[in-house]
Amino acid sequence: MKPRIAIDMDDVLADTVGTFIDIYRRDFDTTALPDVFRENSFHELLEKDISQRLSDYVHEPGFFADIAVMPGAPEITRELSKKYDLFVTSAAMEFRNSLAEKYDWLDRYFPHIPWQNRVFCGDKSIIRADIMIDDMPYNLVSFQGKGLLFDAPHNRDNTLFQRVHSWEQIATILL
Ligand SMILES: [Mg+2]
Repeated sequence: MKPRIAIDMDDVLADTVGTFIDIYRRDFDTTALPDVFRENSFHELLEKDISQRLSDYVHEPGFFADIAVMPGAPEITRELSKKYDLFVTSAAMEFRNSLAEKYDWLDRYFPHIPWQNRVFCGDKSIIRADIMIDDMPYNLVSFQGKGLLFDAPHNRDNTLFQRVHSWEQIATILL
């Protein structure tokens, strides 16, 4: 059996922060510079109520359908799948409207990861695999294998896990 990798969707396969930046610039501040939001989290930069209003967009139909794919993710997961069994593990249960959109999004960008390898779950501590790639440290804390922390503005202060900045970097580590 090949080693298994559990791969998160938001801010790992999908550039969800990028979608929030686009919405913020469209609906709140057209002059905001995208780079600022790549360096600091929304929580650090925005007033609490604005940050909350922005977060609430996840409940809008179409939010998860339109997220850009993370650069390199389709090509590199294709390469990784020759050596590993890949499982997409997303805590999609948090947003009931996201399920169909996430499913269709995977069909669009990751047709090489079939439904048998898609795990829409709640608490990820139920997941067992050899490697987990996630942007949320709490998912890696409860994971028993090797954790790779995908760099994001909201996890910069974490030093517990090996940090990866791109899919190209994941390829150099795992291929
Ligand atoms: Mg995530």
